Parts: sequence; structure tokens; C-alpha cells
Amino acid sequence: MLESRYHSDMRTRIRFLGAAQAVTGSMHLVETPSGSVLVDCGQFQGRRADAEDRNRRPPREAIAADAMVLTHAHIDHSGNIPSLVKRGFSGPIYATPATRDLAAHLLADSARIQEGDAAFLNRKQIDNPAWRPIEPLYDEDDATRALERFVGLPYRERRELLPGVFATLFDAGHILGSSGVLLEVGSGPSARRIALSGDIGRSGMPILRDPDPPLPPADYVLMESTYGNRAHDDIRSMHDALARVVTTTAARGGKIVVPAFAVGRTQELIFSLAVLRREGRIPDVPVFVDSPLAVNVTKVFKQHADCFDDETRAFLKEHGTVFDFPGLRYVESREESMRLNSLRGPAVIVSSSGMCEGGRVLHHLRNTIENPANTVLVVGYMAQHTLGRRIIERRPRVKIHGVERDLRAEVVVMNSFSAHADKHDLLAYARTSGRDAKAIFLVHGEPDQQEPLSREIARSGQRCVAPAPGAVEELQ
Ligand SMILES: [Zn+2]
Repeated sequence: MLESRYHSDMRTRIRFLGAAQAVTGSMHLVETPSGSVLVDCGQFQGRRADAEDRNRRPPREAIAADAMVLTHAHIDHSGNIPSLVKRGFSGPIYATPATRDLAAHLLADSARIQEGDAAFLNRKQIDNPAWRPIEPLYDEDDATRALERFVGLPYRERRELLPGVFATLFDAGHILGSSGVLLEVGSGPSARRIALSGDIGRSGMPILRDPDPPLPPADYVLMESTYGNRAHDDIRSMHDALARVVTTTAARGGKIVVPAFAVGRTQELIFSLAVLRREGRIPDVPVFVDSPLAVNVTKVFKQHADCFDDETRAFLKEHGTVFDFPGLRYVESREESMRLNSLRGPAVIVSSSGMCEGGRVLHHLRNTIENPANTVLVVGYMAQHTLGRRIIERRPRVKIHGVERDLRAEVVVMNSFSAHADKHDLLAYARTSGRDAKAIFLVHGEPDQQEPLSREIARSGQRCVAPAPGAVEELQ
């Protein structure tokens, strides 16, 4: 099969299929003489029609890839895997065991969202004879079939994916199980070492170990650039800022709604609130984690304490738990979630989705944003054209569930919670893994973040570019 599509004289190249000059839909194809390896297969988010079209039609080169490496379980990196398998991708999918366990929950959840969305739109058009029913992008069976292709690959274990093509995963410190991957193609003097960063975390973040860049330096580096032009607030200020938001909102009797990804950010928030509660720095307001997915994901966290940093392991040893405290409640049923709408008095509601593009957080926002006593606490990245972005831009009116609402609640943005490296971390990464690189390719960033970072990296004379969607780079 390989011989029919590949020739030994074929050069190795990278095809930038997704997250090119954008932050969602991560998908990069490394083509080698002995076959091709797809790194990540994420879902596009953004303008609905555009995202829908791109998610429904994965590139044929991606479907035909011989193997896949999944750097981490976030949906913008993994969410199109079931579509790809449904359309014929039949290779193994390598990921760390924690990524595999998280992906099992995230992909099943994503399938349920796709099925729910399709059913909702079809129901709305039930009286329209010209309506052609919408098929979900994929369903839970498709997600299950995709999961059967997963192969666990622990950190720092070198594995031959294709003849002469080796992969090693390095801890990316971004979310549980996250990795960067070093691909080695060929042997001897013509061997190529290609480092793909995945999403890069930050040093000193709660729970996870610090990022461990692929070393020794690679010939080519493909790296994320989400915050290529931004410096984050100091991580140490995070607890102070969180305590301030909870205390001031509670004092005026308001609720704090936190749109948060079910993976990572939610657990960091729980852990931080647990620490603040133990230190007596926040009032005893009830905390609700309103996401069935977050409940399952938190269980996966508990099963992978081997991925925790020393500080979190010490906390676990001392208190017996990292993700529970009095007053914290995990909400699973829809009925209980709806009951939160009539809850009186201050409360913290952590709910998904992270960019406010669906899920239960929408009804909490609808219920709270018109009251200035409440606070919307933004702790994650909001891509362009999402409701979350419109909220942080403090637009006077925002549309939720098709209805325009006045945005009167306080909006607080805390960048210190970011799970992404900032411009200083990214530059350090480029100088480490890319020290001797022939080229550094920036992906997973919007142009206003990529251009300043690219200029900064290129000051040392290195070639640094942010390839356009669909671009192909031949590796010399
Ligand atoms: Zn991520």
C-alpha cells in the first residue's frame, strides 16, 4: 500500500492542514518516503457555516494518512478524529495513556453535542417541507470506533510508527497527558528531526509538571503561537485575583459564572478554590461544577496522579483529595442544572463550554449577564467569532440562544490562568528546541500574535514563518 503512494526519492514535507494562522482545527501532516503521519485532527470553531463545512470535509490527505499522533485531548486538537475514521482513516492513533482516557470522554461528549445540535435544528424545521434533515457530524458509535484505533504511548518512549519513522512524546505541561512530539525520519546523515510542540503549557501552573521541550534540538520546529504577542500575569497573582473576584461579587450578592473547559481549567479552578477555602481567603459560597463531562474528566485526573507535579502530589498526600471540598457540588443532571437558575444568593458556577459556543454555560449566561451584581469570569482563550470573544470585548448586547441580551454583568478576564505559554515562554521554546533549526513554523495563532513572535525569533537570523492554510513546506 505504501509503495503505491510513496517513492523512496520523495522528500519529507509538512502540509499545514489546520490551525494555520488560526487557533482551532489543529491538523498537520508530515509526509515521508515511507508514509505519512498526521499530528492532531481538531475541530474547527468559529463562524458556524464555515466551521461546519470544514469539519464535514476533512482533507483527503488526512484521511489517507498512515498513522496519527494526538498531542492532547482538547477538542480543537482531537474533535475531528471520529469524522476522519468515519470517512476511512484506518491507521493507529498514538497518544499518552492519559490523553487516551480523556479523549474517550471528550469525543463521546462531542458526539452527543453533534447529535443534539442536529436534532434541534431538524425539530425547528419540522414544518418546512423543503428541509433536508441534518446529519450529525458523527455520533457516539463513530466516537467509539475512533477510540478503538488508539494506542498508548508513554512519555519519552521512542516508537517506530512507520518503517524508519520514529516518534517520542515529551510532556507539554498544557493539560493532563499533553505532549509535544519529536518525529525522526530516516537514519544517518539524511535523517530529519521534526519537533511539533502541540500546545505548550506554562511553568509553575498548578497540578501539572512544567513543559519539557523535545531535545536535543530539532532540524525543524512547528510550534504554537496562541499568545505570541502577550505576556501573562504572574501565576502567583492568580490566587489573589481569584479571591478578589469571589469576595467582591459575593459581597454584592451576585453570582460568578465561569465558562471553563471541562479539562484542565475546571480542575485548576477547583484546586485553587480548595486552597483559598482552606486558607480562609474566600467566603463560604457554594461552588457548582455544572458539567457532566467535568465530573468524568475529574475522575480521569484522579486516575493519573502520576502526571501531577510534586506540589500537587504533596497536597494529595496531606489532604487525601485534590478535587473536593465542603460546599463544592458536581452537577450531573439537566434538572439540577436548570434549578441553578432559581438559586438565590452568591454562588460560583463553573460550566462549559470554554468559549461559550454551546453547552450548559449558555443558560447560566442568559440567566446572569443582564444583572450588574453578577460577574462573568473569563479564564481561558476566546477565539474570534465566538460568544466568549464578544463578552470579553464587552459588547453592549450579545446574542444567546438566538436572543439579544444586554451585557450588564461585570466581566473579569484573568489571563494568569492560561494553560498556554506566553511570548516569553514561546521564545524560550524556540531557542531551546529550535536552537539549530533550519526553519521554525508558527501554527495555532492568529496573525496579530504570530507576526511579532515571528519577527522576534527571526532576529537571530533563523527562518520563521506562519504558513497559510493548506501550505506545503519541503524539508531540505
Ligand atoms: Zn489545548
